[in-house]
Amino acid sequence: MKKIALFPGSFDPFTKGHADIVERGSKLFDEVVIGIGENIKKKRFFSVDLMLDKINSYYKNNTKIRAVKYTGLTAKFAQEVNANFLLRGLRNTTDFEFENSVAQANRHVFDQLETVFIITSPNLAFISSSVVRELYNYNQNINSFLPFDL
Ligand code: ADP
Repeated sequence: MKKIALFPGSFDPFTKGHADIVERGSKLFDEVVIGIGENIKKKRFFSVDLMLDKINSYYKNNTKIRAVKYTGLTAKFAQEVNANFLLRGLRNTTDFEFENSVAQANRHVFDQLETVFIITSPNLAFISSSVVRELYNYNQNINSFLPFDL
């Protein structure tokens, strides 16, 4: 059976930290599906379709990595794409506290779903989408935080 991992997130925007997790994850799995969660209640800064385009063109030569968008429960979507694994990144204990409860909830929905964590590369640990948004909001160049230009 093919080992497929879903890497779910908001990716508002997709950063070098995310790319690091995806690329290191792709060495563990046959396929990594980057799932951009669309939540109508959450106002985004960078549109889902823009991120989808940027990520898919960035990985166009890598047959193991693709991005898709989804709505609804992450664990249900994992089943739709035949993923038995969820891939998440961990930067610090705050991430751990949050991820721990999310992983338990996801297993409650789909008990075959294992969440696999990859520890951030130290040089990328300080990057967060929220900080990138803040800088962008104040007209700072954010391209050094992203794997592609926006
Ligand atoms: P969410 O809204 O679900 O938290 P994000 O887009 O913020 O989605 O993050 C998706 C995943 O990427 C999470 O597992 C998060 O911990 C991880 N992540 C975010 N930034 C980094 C980084 N700099 N290094 C490693 N992992 C990261």
